[in-house]
Amino acid sequence: MTSDSIQQAADLLAQADALIIAAGAGIGVDSGLPDFRGDDGFWKAYPALGRAKLAFTSVASPATFREDPALAWGFYGHRLQLYRDTQPHAGFALLKAWGERMEHGYGVFTSNVDGQFQRAGFDPMRIHECHGSIHHLQCLEPCGADIWSADGFVPKVDTDACRLLNAPPVCPHCGAMARPNILMFGDGGWNEQRALTQEARLDALLRKARAPLVIELGAGTAIPSVRHFGQHVVQRHNGRMIRINPREPQVASQRDVGLAMGSMAALAAIDALL
Ligand SMILES: [Zn+2]
Repeated sequence: MTSDSIQQAADLLAQADALIIAAGAGIGVDSGLPDFRGDDGFWKAYPALGRAKLAFTSVASPATFREDPALAWGFYGHRLQLYRDTQPHAGFALLKAWGERMEHGYGVFTSNVDGQFQRAGFDPMRIHECHGSIHHLQCLEPCGADIWSADGFVPKVDTDACRLLNAPPVCPHCGAMARPNILMFGDGGWNEQRALTQEARLDALLRKARAPLVIELGAGTAIPSVRHFGQHVVQRHNGRMIRINPREPQVASQRDVGLAMGSMAALAAIDALL
């Protein structure tokens, strides 16, 4: 059953003229990154927040940047450093190689803010980060400043307490505190300009492709933006779908393939048949 599905996935790859990679948090698990599922998953990664019974939705909010900046930047500073230090797993290189062989190349749609596709050498002009990027900053206030790189900020974090020890980054325009250019919970202030520019580039690629193949990885139904995007490509752009998800692999059509596997194992199994 599974080997038939992997062969079918390899056949879909051979027939496509563009590879559309749609990635959720699950793709990072094989690189050793945490996948916050429910408060339990979040608190396992950040025990200090578990002891304080602070929910992910509460910590990851503009309100916490205002009320307790050392806590908010402790959390995001730790994640920023973690993502800078993480080496993307070998499945990223397989996806990139497959996409580069196609007539129209590849495009990436990801809800992950971790910048792992850029780290893996993907062309930044072909990536849409629908929830923003932790590697970019914006002002906490609506001062009219642009989005800028976080590269100059090196957070010093007490990881046990989840608190920032050095000064948080500030807006070069008005001097107020900066925050990650990420869509948080209860967030009316996210600057979406960078994401909108990325989205327009991905749309242009989809308009050129006649037979796009979506490979969706690690995107659950709990935060459905990645699943919705994949469905859009299938329905509006005559796309096919390979869904890789160990817990929720079901696909709507028999033309498509669902693999109940982790990302790295599934991608390696498909590559072995190419
Ligand atoms: Zn500002």
